[in-house]
Amino acid sequence: MNVIILGSGGCVSTPRACCNCRVCTEARQKGFPYARTGCSLFIEGVNLLIDTPEDINASLNHSDVQKVEHILYSHCDPDHTMGMRVIEQLKMDWLADSLGKKPDHPIEIASLPAILEDVKKQSTKYGSMIEYYEARGLVYTKAIRAFKQDNILIELVPVDEQEHVAIFIISSDSQKIIYAPCDVKPFPKSEKFQDADVLIIGNTIVGDILKDGFVLNEDNPLRKELFTLDEIDAIRRQYGIKKVIITHLEEDWGKSYDDYRKLERELNFTYFAYDGLKIRL
Ligand SMILES: [Zn+2]
Ligand SMILES: [Zn+2]
Repeated sequence: MNVIILGSGGCVSTPRACCNCRVCTEARQKGFPYARTGCSLFIEGVNLLIDTPEDINASLNHSDVQKVEHILYSHCDPDHTMGMRVIEQLKMDWLADSLGKKPDHPIEIASLPAILEDVKKQSTKYGSMIEYYEARGLVYTKAIRAFKQDNILIELVPVDEQEHVAIFIISSDSQKIIYAPCDVKPFPKSEKFQDADVLIIGNTIVGDILKDGFVLNEDNPLRKELFTLDEIDAIRRQYGIKKVIITHLEEDWGKSYDDYRKLERELNFTYFAYDGLKIRL
């Protein structure tokens, strides 16, 4: 099973336009892996993409992805969906369209029923974007609770009863990767997480000192919304997970690629994502 972290950035990509902080300046000069695009994941073999942040076209190019056949959504937040115009870049052929030809093999757009309905609500003044692509024959939509193809199984675990956010359990043979990119606090309880090989998780605040020396006080509301590194480690121990990779890394955390490498050396079983990171199990 081969999985690529296409984009490891957060709501704001790194470098942030017009920002001249230390981290953005270095990212602008050096490019990847110092630069980070929006949060997304790709599963090779089944050619499946999870989420479409605004800069997903650049992420797909950077990791040299050759084909996307399925797009699954974790939830409808704009930082995970607003790059859905990539569907046009993947499938729209205006010249063939001018001759009345529709594309072969439309892309499957799928998620839990409530998430799929949310994603269909992303719209322009012309209406739902996904429904427009469906009418043009670029995509078809499907409400699912699991995806199965060849030897890959992806289960979608809802984060709460309303089921507007999903965690993905990607398994193949005896290997298991959990992908929980965003809005997963409190982390749901499920025996399905037990003994996973890797937990790739976002929704985390990294360190108490953030961008430009911002001190994260004990009563800061971000602590309620986001996990601390200690809370992530508690999840890892609770389920006997072998390794954690933290993704959705915000520019606001004020840390460069090298800072994360340094921090990894102080932690146990915990690593930080970068764009193009391949996980082979
Ligand atoms: Zn910056
Ligand atoms: Zn997010």
